[in-house]
Amino acid sequence: MATPKYIFVVGGVMSGIGKGVASSAIGRILKSKGFKVTAIKIDPYINVDAGTMNPTEHGEVFVLEDGYETDQDMGNYERFLGETLPSINYMTTGRVYQEVIRKERNLEYKGRNVQVVPDVPQEVIRRIEEAQQVAGAEVTLIEVGGTIGEYENILFLEAARMLKHKSPHDVAVVMLSYLPIPGNVGEMKTKPTQHASRELGSVGLQADIILARAEVPLDQKRKEKIALFCNISPDRVISAPDVSSIYDVPLNYEKDGLGDTLCEVLGLPVRPTDLSEWEAFVKKVKNGGREVNIAVVGKYFMSGDYVLSDVYISVIESMKHAAAALDLKVKLSYLDSEPYETDVAKLQELKNYDGVLVPGGFGSRGVEGIIAAINFARENKIPYFGLCYGMQLLVIEYARNKAGFAGATTSEINKEAAHPVIDIMPDQKDKMLKADYGGTMRLGTYPCALKEGTVAQAAYGKKEISERHRHRYEVNPEYIKKIEAAGLVFSGTSPDNRLMEIAELPQSEHPFFLGTQFHPEFLSRPLSPHPLFVAFLKAASQKK
Ligand code: GLN
Repeated sequence: MATPKYIFVVGGVMSGIGKGVASSAIGRILKSKGFKVTAIKIDPYINVDAGTMNPTEHGEVFVLEDGYETDQDMGNYERFLGETLPSINYMTTGRVYQEVIRKERNLEYKGRNVQVVPDVPQEVIRRIEEAQQVAGAEVTLIEVGGTIGEYENILFLEAARMLKHKSPHDVAVVMLSYLPIPGNVGEMKTKPTQHASRELGSVGLQADIILARAEVPLDQKRKEKIALFCNISPDRVISAPDVSSIYDVPLNYEKDGLGDTLCEVLGLPVRPTDLSEWEAFVKKVKNGGREVNIAVVGKYFMSGDYVLSDVYISVIESMKHAAAALDLKVKLSYLDSEPYETDVAKLQELKNYDGVLVPGGFGSRGVEGIIAAINFARENKIPYFGLCYGMQLLVIEYARNKAGFAGATTSEINKEAAHPVIDIMPDQKDKMLKADYGGTMRLGTYPCALKEGTVAQAAYGKKEISERHRHRYEVNPEYIKKIEAAGLVFSGTSPDNRLMEIAELPQSEHPFFLGTQFHPEFLSRPLSPHPLFVAFLKAASQKK
């Protein structure tokens, strides 16, 4: 293999302008040119992984196949690249320091003075190179979290500088910037981008390509201005206007020839880009067909005055993939479950939707309202899909109202409950007593056997599947037989039949009433939508 190439994607001006999607899109373009690509995310915070953070702080926690709890950008990479990424492709400051300190304690630095620079950036580079090797990647993308000029990511930018110093022709720096159009000025301004470029220069880096995010495409004059003041040629300033679908981004970049420019910068052979399958998918996403309305019921996540839908990003994307496959358009509405707890009449609003989905979650806020919503969906035959907590609450609803276990609940909420139909997994008890919370849930991929003749088995068309998990509680084995006797079917179980992985009602009873202990949303891809999302949306589209 030729020498591996590295592309660092850094953010200028401000956060939240889509660095993750930009990195993913670059990856997709290079993959569609036939290169083997992998992608790494660096998060500059101290947390060793994303698993211990509150959703309002962090958005979704994306779980990798090997169980590492990461940033949602890893989900974007997997979706855009269609690759399964290992934990070495994700790092935080905490993770890097943890490893440096471990090596120091083990005398792996052979008694020398271990320093922040160069030892920390060197560990970062070691991880980048390991990820490259594991993937056998020709091109490795590295997205550096945060914005240039912050204290937090400086050691990662130093790693980029050191790697570029070592192999100047094999490392490219892409800066994602933002060009505001202030309302009272009415003109697109390049100054913040110029400042960002100067900040980047202060850490010894020069952008090879600038992705210019803005509301609208850049005109030639702005491109030339950025080129002059940021020290690159105008054809390396790529227009990145707002788009209606994130899946449009690679197609948009290609309009400005990003793929070929990157090949030129890195000395890669220039090859044609084949995005035809991708384009067909994007067309379906945009045109859509008949609209299907789905209520996503859960507790609300607020950041100040703003609702954070980022918390459910993989669920949202999975819906889009499934909708495209079915030639449907999906509209998601976020319904707060807490009002259902005091106002039963409010549940009637669910009748306006074609389906109800309850995503994963933790804790007690809004849970009684969710259970009431599940009950409503079951009795009114509204298609229902429960993910993880959404499956556990389905089982609780059924246990209470059909199996005769009044007050049934999960021991997550009430440790003294008379009927803990959802209970902590035995190996989790000990961890909780020791307050050993980080990275200790049942995480990552586990196999699941499907029962013949069930909704789940028909959807997958297989007998055994593998899905990703993130939970501490499970269906209490003591209640399984009794709940089954009342009519609920556990259509998916761990191969040893110990853990209940899917619960459903037969199609003769309900058009679609199914919950999964795992998170199917982590495996849906644009070009291969998840079978359960497809089955759910199909049922929803047929609702009378
Ligand atoms: N809180 C539940 C558990 O820990 C469900 C977790 C989830 O939805 N991811 O088992």
